[in-house]
Amino acid sequence: MKILVTNDDGVYAPGLWAAVDALEGLGEVVVVAPDREQSGVGASVTLNSPVRVVEVVPPLEGIHTYAVEGTPADSVIVALESLVENVGMVVSGFNSGFNLGEDVLVSGTVGAVLQGYFRGIPSLAVSVGSLHATDFRAANLLLTALAQEVAEGGLPRSVLLNANLPPVAPKEIKGIDMTRLARRRYADTVRKGDDGKRAYYWITRTRPAWDVEEGTDVWSVRHRRISITPLQTDMTAASVLVGAIGLSERLQRLFGPVSS
Ligand code: MN
Repeated sequence: MKILVTNDDGVYAPGLWAAVDALEGLGEVVVVAPDREQSGVGASVTLNSPVRVVEVVPPLEGIHTYAVEGTPADSVIVALESLVENVGMVVSGFNSGFNLGEDVLVSGTVGAVLQGYFRGIPSLAVSVGSLHATDFRAANLLLTALAQEVAEGGLPRSVLLNANLPPVAPKEIKGIDMTRLARRRYADTVRKGDDGKRAYYWITRTRPAWDVEEGTDVWSVRHRRISITPLQTDMTAASVLVGAIGLSERLQRLFGPVSS
């Protein structure tokens, strides 16, 4: 099996090479990742300029490694469409820092694997909850097990999993849960300033106020457990569709019957 590894922390991030280490025995690993940190770019794709790619010297011998002047999603698109044939699994990680709840929508780690998922390739995003994570042993064990499942056909091809681990040693992990995304109560804040020439606005990620309900990804990692959330891209709010009666009547007066 060919395994594509990418991330949003940049091609030389230690977490990526820890992921490669976990996967090396399971197939041919190819690394295609942004040439610099791209956290927070989400599923962004470069459409208005060419995407340049250079093969670079890997920290681990024998791994074909490409640095992409673009986003994590660009990296996976270029890899799957042009650089690497017959990829059986796409892995993004190990990201330094959690990707929980609604943050998956701005996560470059998750944005990368969406491109594998769109193409029907089993895709895994794995994050360790520390910006300075150095202990990837638990992530290594988890990824090896998940990759073995994929290799043995134990997961559906259309699967997209977002895994988060507390930044602790394997023996300190209390358990593992299949979870749903948590919700935040507020989003980013803005600091206004002036650099002497012009005003600027600095968007700052503050500590989110999470609704920590049992069953969510945030609950699990807060309880020192591993969280695995299966994701899908159909964001249609079915309950709102059914419930939007008042809106439907207003629209019917304008445009005729609303079907659903
Ligand atoms: Mn990152």
